Amino acid sequence: MKSLIIANWKMNPSIKKEAEQLFKDVFRVIKKTKTVDVLIAAPFVWWPFLKKAKLCAQNCFWEEKGPYTGEISPKMIKDLGVEYVIIGHSERRNKFGETDEMINKKIKAALSAELIPILCVGEKKGEDAEEVIGRQLREDLDGIENCKSGIENLIIAYEPVWAIGTGDFCESCDAEKVLNFIKSKYNNQIIYGGSVNGENSKGYIDVGFNGLLPGGASLKADEFIKIIENVQN
Ligand code: PEP
Repeated sequence: MKSLIIANWKMNPSIKKEAEQLFKDVFRVIKKTKTVDVLIAAPFVWWPFLKKAKLCAQNCFWEEKGPYTGEISPKMIKDLGVEYVIIGHSERRNKFGETDEMINKKIKAALSAELIPILCVGEKKGEDAEEVIGRQLREDLDGIENCKSGIENLIIAYEPVWAIGTGDFCESCDAEKVLNFIKSKYNNQIIYGGSVNGENSKGYIDVGFNGLLPGGASLKADEFIKIIENVQN
């Protein structure tokens, strides 16, 4: 199975010219790689300008259409030919008040639209990882067996909240323990995110993660290329 790398651009870059340039710089490596699948989770507004990218949405709403100003539905994403959507990123949980109940509705809506959700789970500093992640998985995935496309299509991203955007990454041996905990419950693709860079990226793949979700490092072409090259070797 190919490793998966998802570049989470978050709300960046702030102008179209920079978004096009960043993609151009990384695409020369992406197009050559045969062993890694690279998705670009770019803001929706940049999608029309990244025609050669395999895109991933950063979020979606749970309704198909209607009076929900500012929201984007899974059906709209699917209709553009995009297959993946990140759901439950810690920034959505902590800065936008997304609850596990809302995340559960989004996961169900995404699976019903036959999208592949990337569910982000992870503990805050000082919290018990297994307790938090066990609860998040239970609540976020409650009742998904009734969706049109099944749990086998779901990807789980382990992202310790304390490691996101801090440079304070989780040692791969510690991440491996959480990986094994999730694996004992779900036989899904599991990826890692949290201050991934060119240096530490290979370690997560070596301990068994199926891919990576870099944020900050995906905005620096050279660093992102290093990550791709490390994972493919
Ligand atoms: C993320 O955005 O999911 C993330 C892990 O960010 P960073 O790599 O900057 O920690």
